[in-house]
Amino acid sequence: MDYEHVREVDPAVADALSGEVTRQNETLAMIASENHVSEAVLEAQGSALTNKYAEGYPGARYYGGCEYADDVENLAIERAKELWGAEHVNVQPHSGTQANQAVYFAMLDPGDKILSMELSHGGHLSHGHPANFTGQLYEVESYEVDTETGYIDYEELHAMAEEFEPDIVVSGYSAYPRTVDWERIQEAADAVDALHLADIAHITGLVAGGAHPSPVGVADFVTGSTHKTIRAGRGGIVMCDEEYADDIDKAVFPGGQGGPLMHNIAGKAVGFKEALDPSFEEYAAQTVSNAKALADQLQEHGFSLVSEGTDNHLVLVDLRPSHPDTTGGDAEEALEDTGIVLNANTVPGETRSAFNPSGIRIGTPALTTRGFDEDDIRVVADCIAKVVDAPEDESVKSEVGETVSELCDANALYD
Ligand SMILES: *Cc1c(COP(=O)(O)O)cnc(C)c1O
Repeated sequence: MDYEHVREVDPAVADALSGEVTRQNETLAMIASENHVSEAVLEAQGSALTNKYAEGYPGARYYGGCEYADDVENLAIERAKELWGAEHVNVQPHSGTQANQAVYFAMLDPGDKILSMELSHGGHLSHGHPANFTGQLYEVESYEVDTETGYIDYEELHAMAEEFEPDIVVSGYSAYPRTVDWERIQEAADAVDALHLADIAHITGLVAGGAHPSPVGVADFVTGSTHKTIRAGRGGIVMCDEEYADDIDKAVFPGGQGGPLMHNIAGKAVGFKEALDPSFEEYAAQTVSNAKALADQLQEHGFSLVSEGTDNHLVLVDLRPSHPDTTGGDAEEALEDTGIVLNANTVPGETRSAFNPSGIRIGTPALTTRGFDEDDIRVVADCIAKVVDAPEDESVKSEVGETVSELCDANALYD
């Protein structure tokens, strides 16, 4: 990727773009929400469709010249329906947050009630955080995971639903390492006649690839980001039954957005086609298997994991028991020096702060895309342990840095 046209016009941006490709090639992306899309998805996202205004939906646009925009959007929709088995799909949300916004805007009035997971326990800003529009427009109550076990306390969630009587219950998380029981949450929502939004942003690919149970057909609405485990480029998606189709489509456009990002929708179409290939099931299974290997090996090194392991693509480490003097931020920074990129994260029962939390969240989707298997991942876990045990030891860091380089060279990414 040489970005020759950009370089001619704007060397400063070209340097940053090339620098980013090199950074991705030469470091280990272990941020659980990240992935590497194929060059085919990159090409589609960089296409001339970025020029096209296509307000409206296929066959019913407010502008002329939409025949290719229609082709691309119809392909994205058909493929998404096949991947997730949804009756209706809207592929226009600019991101996962916009997908959630569409559901709230379609179904709630200001002042209505949302019951969702507390952010520091694994929820998402767009589920009702005070700094987000959801926290300002709606009345929000939060459920939590059991701080002893790290698992969702479904009994407590159900009891809270009965007491709070929400209009919508939100499930789906950013830092929850375990399988979600969608039926159990649906039961709680049904008990109080609430709607249920399952936000599968993180696990879209695991659900599509059969590595996590699907909420489609259980929850009223399913939303997701398209750039995480599904590897289809940056964007969002909403799925629902036919009965809500018009409401959702109107809430996306004109309710919350203007013209769709047709180049991104082209990326979604291509990424979804890739995910329909049988090899994607292997990818999803390998991602989980790699996360389990990571969990086991970190535990061998004495790390304490929230819920003591994982069922999905991520591991949440609570550093307090094993490394009481090392914050998540200290660990993140030291690891980044060696080329292992992950994020500090709050843990259930957090005793520090959101800015300086006690945990690190580690994901395997991107490394699995690069071809890492369990053996490679165990080497990475050994590296993480070495660095977190001695975050200020420069010789440890340089030794680990060399191992990281070897792993990157052995699992090439972009040309
Ligand atoms: C990532 C994420 C989103 C959406 O994020 P965007 O950055 O807006 O795509 C929504 N919900 C959850 C649970 C997430 O983890």
